[in-house]
Amino acid sequence: MFFSPADKTEKKIKILDASAIIHGYNPLFYNDDYYITPEVLEEIETNKIIIDQAINIGKVKIKSPKKEFIDKVIKTVKDLGEELSEADIKTIALALELDGEVISDDFGIHNVSKKLNVKVRGIYYNTDKKIIWRKVCIGCKKKYPIDYEGECEVCGSEVKRKAINVKK
Ligand SMILES: [Zn+2]
Repeated sequence: MFFSPADKTEKKIKILDASAIIHGYNPLFYNDDYYITPEVLEEIETNKIIIDQAINIGKVKIKSPKKEFIDKVIKTVKDLGEELSEADIKTIALALELDGEVISDDFGIHNVSKKLNVKVRGIYYNTDKKIIWRKVCIGCKKKYPIDYEGECEVCGSEVKRKAINVKK
């Protein structure tokens, strides 16, 4: 029997987002199984040949998440006040569904994944910070929910989106 070193480690499931591919992540270098959503595949232009190759040999599979997982991610995005694209949301939803790890350098994706206890790894970007977005009056600092529209009801100043750090 012959074993390559890669056989000793259990294969993981990893889900690629657009930023990972743009930053040059190559799934062919690793022993793991990869997934990508059709939305991300459509989005990427840089390094697309790497992914096309990996898809052709079955290293990367194209898959859409089920609606229940998408709904769960959308709810968390709203709770945190994040602004994520459909492609971002579906990438996290797929990781949730498959119990996989998201590969991404997008801050919003990291933030939402952590909140959902989805594993997430960056290439250039990694942090343990968790952030909640709220709207805050630039005058009197009164806090508002993220979907608040209009001026401050106390002092009439502008109300802006602001990150609130939450420790791990
Ligand atoms: Zn105010």
